[in-house]
Amino acid sequence: MSQILHRKPDLNLPQAVGGEGVYLRDHNGKQFLDACGGAAVSCLGHNHPQVLAALREQLERLSFAHTSFFTTEPLEKLGAHLTSHAPDNLTHAYLVSGGSEAIEASLKLARQYFVEIGEPQRTHFIARQQSYHGNTLGALAVGGNIERRAPYSPLLMETSHIAPCYAYRHQRTEESEVEYARRAADELEQKIVQVGAHKVIAFVAETVGGATAGVLPPATGYFKRVRGICDRHKILLILDEVMCGMGRCGTLYACEAEGVRADMVALAKGLGGGYQPIGALLLENRIFDAVVGGSGTFLHGHTYMGHALASAAALAVQQIIQRDSLLANVQKQGQALMRGLHAVFDEHPHIGDIRGRGLFIGLEIVQCRKTKKPFAPATKLHAKLKQAAMQNGLMIYPGAGGIDGISGHHILLAPPFIFTESHVDELLSKLETSVAAALGDIT
Ligand code: PLP
Repeated sequence: MSQILHRKPDLNLPQAVGGEGVYLRDHNGKQFLDACGGAAVSCLGHNHPQVLAALREQLERLSFAHTSFFTTEPLEKLGAHLTSHAPDNLTHAYLVSGGSEAIEASLKLARQYFVEIGEPQRTHFIARQQSYHGNTLGALAVGGNIERRAPYSPLLMETSHIAPCYAYRHQRTEESEVEYARRAADELEQKIVQVGAHKVIAFVAETVGGATAGVLPPATGYFKRVRGICDRHKILLILDEVMCGMGRCGTLYACEAEGVRADMVALAKGLGGGYQPIGALLLENRIFDAVVGGSGTFLHGHTYMGHALASAAALAVQQIIQRDSLLANVQKQGQALMRGLHAVFDEHPHIGDIRGRGLFIGLEIVQCRKTKKPFAPATKLHAKLKQAAMQNGLMIYPGAGGIDGISGHHILLAPPFIFTESHVDELLSKLETSVAAALGDIT
C-alpha cells in the first residue's frame, strides 16, 4: 500500500534504487537501459560523478537564499552560460523549477510586454494542435493535447490552435516538403487574420514537436515562414524547447537548425538533466527593456525560482556537455541510431514512420503501412509497448493519440548524450523484441 497519489495508482511500479551512466537499477537488482531519459530528461545519464561533486560543493556552501533578498554565484553563472551560448538576441534568463513554469512565465511575460508598450488589447495566444506545453492551467490552455485538456477545458483561457507541422500525416502526395511547410505556416497567418492581428500576443510552438505526437521535426522552411508572419503582424514567437532543446537534437538550441530568431525560448528537462528540478525562460533584450524600463518589475515569481542548488546542477550539466563535446556525440549516435532503426524496421509491417533529429527520435506505429491506418485506441498498444520494454530491461517513452488526440501510437526515444555504439546495439535488439512482444499481444 502506497500513501502516494501516483500518476497511475493501479500500476505496481518497481522501485528505482540506483543508477549509473545509461542504466537505472530497481530494488530487485534488475538493470534498465534508459533509452528515453525518463521523458527526455537524463541527458548525462545517472549519477554522473562531476555533477554530484558540483552538487556536493554547492550544498556545503549554500542550498537556498530567497531571490527577493539575494542573488547567488551559481544563478549568475548559469544565466551567463545560457545566454552566452544562446542565439544573440536572447540576452536574459529567468530561472524556474520546470517546463510548465517556464511556459507560464513566457505567457505572462509576453502579455506584460504588450501592456508595457501600450498594446493592452492583445490578449490572445495561438498555438498548435497535438502540442504539449505543460500541465499548469496556462500551459495546458496553449497545449493541444485533447485528453489532458478535456476535464479542465472550462477553466482554460481561450486559445486558437492550428495544425501541427506533421509531414507524415499532412503533406499531400503532390506537394514538395517546402510547399507543405509553406501551407502549414500559412495557416498561422489565416488564424491571425481571423482572430484580428491587433488582439494576438504570440504564437507558441515546440521547435521539434515532442511527447504528444512522437517527435515532429519541422519541414524545411516552416519556422522561417512562421517568423516572417509573426514579424508582419508584430506578434511574438515563443519556442518551447523544454524537450527538444539543450542539445537533444544535436544543436544546443533546436531553433539554431531552423535559422530563426525566437523572442523567448522555454527550457527544462535536459537543462538540469534530472539532477535537480529546473527550467528557464530566455528572453530578448527588447522584452527585458520594455518591462524593466517600464513598470520595472515582471509581476510573477515563485519561492524556488533561481534556486542555488538547482542552478549549480544545471551549470555543471551544461559545462560537462560543452567540455566533453557531447553535442558531437549526439549527432554521431543519433545517426547511428537512425541507421540502425531503418535497418531493423524499414520492412516492418507496422512501423509507418521513423523520424527525428539528433538523439530525439520517434517511431509511428500503424496497423497498415499503405493506408497509414492506426491501431484502434482500445488496443492500448502504447501501454503494452512500455510494459514489454520494461520486462526486457529497456526504458522507452510510448504515447497514444498522436494523430488527432485519440488515434495513433508512437514510441519516443531520447537516450543520454553519453550513449555509445554498444548502447545503440543493445537498444535496437531490446526494442525489436519488445515491439514484437507488444504487437503479438494485439495482432
Ligand atoms: N513543454 C514541453 C515541450 C514538454 O515536453 C513538457 C513536459 O513534458 C513541458 C513543457 C512541461 O514540463 P514539466 O513537466 O517540467 O512541467
